[in-house]
Amino acid sequence: MDFRLKPEEEQFRESVRRFAGKHLAAGAHERAHASGYPWDVAQLMAKQGLLGITIAEKDGGQGGTLLDAVLAIETVASVCPRSADVVQAGNFGPIRVLAEYGSAAQKQTHLRRLLAGEGVISVGMTEPDAGSAVTDLKTSATRDKSGDGKGWRVSGSKIFTTHSAYADVFLVYVRFGPGVGGIGSVLIEKKDVRLGKASKFMSGEEWAQLYLDDVKVPEANVLLGEGGFKKQIAGFNVERIGNAARSLALGRYAYEAARAWALERKQFGRLLCEFQGLQWKFADMKMKLDAAQLLLYRAAANADHGLPSPEETAIAKAYCNQAGFDVANESLQVMGGMGYSQESLVEYCLRRCRGWMIAGGSIEILKNRIAEHIFERSFSQRPD
Ligand SMILES: Cc1cc2nc3c(=O)[nH]c(=O)nc-3n(C[C@H](O)[C@H](O)[C@H](O)COP(=O)(O)OP(=O)(O)OC[C@H]3O[C@@H](n4cnc5c(N)ncnc54)[C@H](O)[C@@H]3O)c2cc1C
Repeated sequence: MDFRLKPEEEQFRESVRRFAGKHLAAGAHERAHASGYPWDVAQLMAKQGLLGITIAEKDGGQGGTLLDAVLAIETVASVCPRSADVVQAGNFGPIRVLAEYGSAAQKQTHLRRLLAGEGVISVGMTEPDAGSAVTDLKTSATRDKSGDGKGWRVSGSKIFTTHSAYADVFLVYVRFGPGVGGIGSVLIEKKDVRLGKASKFMSGEEWAQLYLDDVKVPEANVLLGEGGFKKQIAGFNVERIGNAARSLALGRYAYEAARAWALERKQFGRLLCEFQGLQWKFADMKMKLDAAQLLLYRAAANADHGLPSPEETAIAKAYCNQAGFDVANESLQVMGGMGYSQESLVEYCLRRCRGWMIAGGSIEILKNRIAEHIFERSFSQRPD
């Protein structure tokens, strides 16, 4: 077993570091507090080959590994936390599900633009009455009897959709029939979606409720038909790896800021790093970050060019989410009023890490999955 990166991975990380230093360091603070999507960053990343890292070259990607994509997200976040979201959107999110399962025509229509940093795709799973219990979703796809009778009519609503305000295409989980087996997904363009009132998460990210009012969806826009739920969740595990990577990376960003602060700031005539009460906080933070990183790298490296294991992904995400939040929180404490102020990005990292404990499978739901692996049986969460 070798815990070091391969020389080509080191080289890749170094190239991302140089890119981030040159293009993303200036403006990192403003970007974190700006609304909208950083399209300029997306286009720069597209030119640098940082979108579609794990997508096959024949589909316009880089043909790299999931670990490469994790290294990219970590390295970018260490310079500009907000820009890590662009790496997420261009590699880990629904774009990867589209690349994995989409038809040639679907990829032709959407992937090129997404990989060029000219568009973004969102995933609409969550509904007002189907959060953790996502298989309770009600958004329906029923046969469209008009025309050639091959298309679908989609009706329902989605909430909390990241990038809903500026995505140009949505990967929407729908119900073709009853039960888990009846769930699949379709691609719906922005022009067919009615957006509700604009809202914001605590992180500052914008979202708006999506209303699908009897939307006409041609057969060609079905991504995964009836019975596609398992495949969708397998693809969604990639999104979870990106979510875990950002939790870890933003926790580490806050930690580095606090470390620098503790080496500079004096109280009672001594540097903060000389107080044992704070040294132990740093030791705890370092242990959490290192453990989280090992779990994340295990899940990503074992996926190689494929999809990550559900168990390793659940362990990595649950641990990184908690570690990222705990470390950002302790870093803020170490920096006192300065950590709590928008003068530093530590409070931003804390707010972002808090959301990832809920998004993409909450920590509790992931622990349920881990328990199922431990006992090799499923535990229904529903009443008898
Ligand atoms: C920042 C952010 C971004 C998001 N982005 C998207 C997106 O792009 N697309 C999308 O579709 N959705 C998105 N979501 C929604 C997210 O997937 C849901 O919020 C999540 O699945 C939880 O659902 P809920 O909020 O309805 O909480 P609920 O399901 O109502 O859960 C409430 C609490 O109960 C716990 N709980 C529920 N069931 C159990 C159980 N069986 N055992 C133990 N504990 C349980 C949960 O862990 C949680 O703590 C996002 C959410 C956030 C916060």
